[in-house]
Amino acid sequence: MKVEEIRKDFPILNTGVLYLDSAATSLTPEPVLDAVLDYYRNYNANIGRGVHRLARIASQRYEDAHSKVAEGIGAKSQELIFTKNSTEAINIVASGIGLKKGDKVITSLWEHHSNLLPWIRAKNELGIDLEVVKPRIASSEAKLEASDFDAVIDEKTRLVAITHVSNALGSIMPVEEIARMCDDNNALLLLDAAQSAPHMRINVKELGCDFLAFSGHKMLGPTGTGGLYVKEELMAEIEPLTVGGGAVEDASFVDYRLKGGYEEFESGTPNIAGAMGLSAAVAYLDRIGMDKVKSWEEKLAKQLIEGLQDIHGVKVYGYGSDAFRIGVVSFNLEGQTPNEVALLLDKEASIAVRSGHHCCIPLMNYLGPGAEGTVRASLYLYNTEEEVERFLELVAQIKKE
Ligand code: PMP
Repeated sequence: MKVEEIRKDFPILNTGVLYLDSAATSLTPEPVLDAVLDYYRNYNANIGRGVHRLARIASQRYEDAHSKVAEGIGAKSQELIFTKNSTEAINIVASGIGLKKGDKVITSLWEHHSNLLPWIRAKNELGIDLEVVKPRIASSEAKLEASDFDAVIDEKTRLVAITHVSNALGSIMPVEEIARMCDDNNALLLLDAAQSAPHMRINVKELGCDFLAFSGHKMLGPTGTGGLYVKEELMAEIEPLTVGGGAVEDASFVDYRLKGGYEEFESGTPNIAGAMGLSAAVAYLDRIGMDKVKSWEEKLAKQLIEGLQDIHGVKVYGYGSDAFRIGVVSFNLEGQTPNEVALLLDKEASIAVRSGHHCCIPLMNYLGPGAEGTVRASLYLYNTEEEVERFLELVAQIKKE
């Protein structure tokens, strides 16, 4: 991968920042910025309603953006709902599938609050049975295996809602095996792909999921963009989170008939400029190739983890650098709080890392550091080996003797 060429596409890198916070939100390349501006400059109009020229261009390009992004995850255009982020996508499923008392929903220790709170709410308000899968053998690695799910997924299970990749540990869930267990038990599978879609090729059919949530702003797209894949045959069975303009075929003062398909879930004016940017982001990643992105990050992640493990007084959370993992690494320095470390890295060398609980308080409690959390360094295609080296030197330097 020609990283030096890629870096030229990201104007914010000219500020001198060493950006290691892509798991929170990624940087934005010129073609994405251009696509957003192009909409506002050249065909700024609402979609799906007007018949004038600009409205027709905007509508067509919005549909094209749907097709492009859907194609990027191996789905049909009609199987993809644009959302503002993963959180909204997960909430559409939680509120839309008609959960009722006694339904069993399974989630896991690794979940981001966005894939945990909607299920806790369903438990409290609807009386569903919620099971959280944890490693059978407790360890500081918090490693989850397919066999941990085997004991829990049964014929009473309505839905398994799990993350594809942990946003705090970078570890990858054995989703294909879990998908088979769901299939055997007639259970639905929702994958939270917020941390996988940016870093590896996603094909919803190969993964065997029924729903897949992702965030555009973590995969080079604009903020306020994301998506929910819904398997075609389930689309008609789900209630939209909102109803209103743009989503109806007919309406009277007493009733309405919704359009069907993704439009039913996108009532109101959507993030049109954002959709253009997201589509450009998918095209950008396509041109580079997700397999190349994945292997580059794998290499950097190994360098990062091994480097951190070599520094005395650094504790790295999660499991090893040997198996493929996403370039997300959580660690702490003995005797220093995560916020102190993050502030020092910023002050000394303009290094941007995340500190805190990473919206995973239950996982942080399980691992030990509690809500104070960890320092999290996260990589993406624009990071370099030199940057990782510079980061490791700084960590070693600020580590109090
Ligand atoms: N799930 C995971 C695994 C995440 O990492 C995040 C974002 N940190 C989310 C869900 C929520 O994403 P968003 O803020 O875009 O809704």
